[in-house]
Amino acid sequence: MGGEIPAENDFIKRLARKYHINYRMEWLGEGVRGYKIGDEIVLNSLNPPERRNWTFCHELGHIVLGHSQEPADVEEREADGFAAETMLPERDFVPDCAGFDLRRLKELYPHASYEAIARRCLQYNSGVLTVFDSGEMVFRGGSEGLVFPAIATAVEKRAAEQCLAERSDISVSADGLDIKGYFIDVGSEVIRVILISRPFAYFE
Ligand SMILES: [Zn+2]
Repeated sequence: MGGEIPAENDFIKRLARKYHINYRMEWLGEGVRGYKIGDEIVLNSLNPPERRNWTFCHELGHIVLGHSQEPADVEEREADGFAAETMLPERDFVPDCAGFDLRRLKELYPHASYEAIARRCLQYNSGVLTVFDSGEMVFRGGSEGLVFPAIATAVEKRAAEQCLAERSDISVSADGLDIKGYFIDVGSEVIRVILISRPFAYFE
């Protein structure tokens, strides 16, 4: 099966024009984000649009910042920083993200994924982000300097389960935590739950 090559996306189209970059979509198979060859960016048509947007910005970062063809770790981080700033510019995003309201932020920045938005929030606010795909924890990270357990606590696990069971967003306060759970169903087989936990003061 080849799959439809998705329609062009305005976000990418505008950036490609601005930076005079060529790009194309290709069927690259599962788990592949994309790559660049010289000044051309190749994106995986299989990935959701928000992920393609991120990949485009990341690869664009490598090109704009003049990175080598085999980027070093520090260059990968710089490309991620470029992508974050291009997708969610600090000047606009900082005032917008104070309330950690992911639904509102997604309306303001529809080209970014919930996860990218949540990770950016943690650059400017104290908190912990936990991502569950179909009930399995796939990511957990916190704002810089915050001490927190590597695995979701019992109350967080319960919050994620509740979110999944009720198929809706939830808000829980327990054990010194304010937890917001977001139920994200984008029509793929995977149902995602994103938890934002704050303030975690009791772990310090
Ligand atoms: Zn890279």
